[in-house]
Amino acid sequence: MVEYFCQNFCKASADCEKKRDKLASDVFHGVTPFCDWFVFWFGILSPINNEWRRVIVIKFTISQVFRIHFLYKIPIFRHFQWIFWKIMYNPFFSLLSIFMQHRLIATSIPYMNAGPHMGHAMEFIIADILARYNRSSGNDTFFLTGADEHGSKIYNKAQELEKETLEMLDENVELFNTLHTALHTTPDEFIRTTDQVRHWPTAQAIWRKLETKGDIYKKKYSGLYCEGCEVFMPEKDLDSEGNCPIHHKKPLLLEEENYFFRLSKYEEQLKKIISNDTVKIVPEFRKNEILSFLSEGLNDVSFSRSADKMPWGIPVPGDETQVMYVWCDALTNYLSGIGYSFDQEKFNRYYPTYLHVIGKDISRFHAIIYMAMLLSADMETSKNILVHGFVTSA
Ligand SMILES: [Zn+2]
Repeated sequence: MVEYFCQNFCKASADCEKKRDKLASDVFHGVTPFCDWFVFWFGILSPINNEWRRVIVIKFTISQVFRIHFLYKIPIFRHFQWIFWKIMYNPFFSLLSIFMQHRLIATSIPYMNAGPHMGHAMEFIIADILARYNRSSGNDTFFLTGADEHGSKIYNKAQELEKETLEMLDENVELFNTLHTALHTTPDEFIRTTDQVRHWPTAQAIWRKLETKGDIYKKKYSGLYCEGCEVFMPEKDLDSEGNCPIHHKKPLLLEEENYFFRLSKYEEQLKKIISNDTVKIVPEFRKNEILSFLSEGLNDVSFSRSADKMPWGIPVPGDETQVMYVWCDALTNYLSGIGYSFDQEKFNRYYPTYLHVIGKDISRFHAIIYMAMLLSADMETSKNILVHGFVTSA
């Protein structure tokens, strides 16, 4: 076959072999260079979009360097490399896509008890810049955002405004969409946790996975609950006056019978994957904050709420009296947003999450609770978590 191509395409067939050992001849003589240059120029001139064109140029440059220094020393590769390079450069061979990275970049999903503020704009812009950078580097990139629409704060706010809860939610979602338009940020998907067709089946499927694993159990619980944070707070996390350090309000004493998630079971595994950067948290001091939190030991977390407190929440599978609490309800948006329960092909394409862009107040929820849920569900954990601070003056 090599012979055939040499005779047909390369006039210098007799000493082709020898010449191929040199850079100059490699580029200007022989079958492989012919295919390279043909496809290279074809790629440049053909009516394909800019991103693909860029991929071709970058891959071409890399391959030239790579071939000479390493692959070209392997005799078999030297003879048949043209097949490889041809596939690699030809824009009509969809096989090119196997050389592209698939990347899911996600913001946190803002809580819809109000419209957007400056902090949301900052997070969207950071994520959008990174998504654009990845797209222009030739990566198949999916930019995900959405809305967190369950929780007592939302219900209380709607009551205060004398509106139906869903009516207020729709209005706030519209404000966020307007912000995306104004900022020219271009998410590929905006997933809402009230989406009963796409989001609910995902949340419920994940719940069942954790339950099957034996990581969900029911127990009576009483504790101090900050409505602002929507979490039960251990007393050590309160300030000197017994207030939530973020909301400066006294948490309420609540007693409930709820489902719990065995977070404590994953303490050692979490320490390992965070300290060895399997889940890379940046900047470094945020990673250290998470590790120091982990070193204090983990408690299991409340995973559901009574359905009469949040009637529009996602029902717990097999128990009508309970709805899911924020963890399985909201954090699963990173799965439903790419089609976990309705588009397996898309899900496989973008999973696992390449990057979460989140605020410092929710770094524990992502780095600890969400990663533990993924471990429990036997799913690959996210690759990177970028934690940003708050906008304190504007
Ligand atoms: Zn709070």
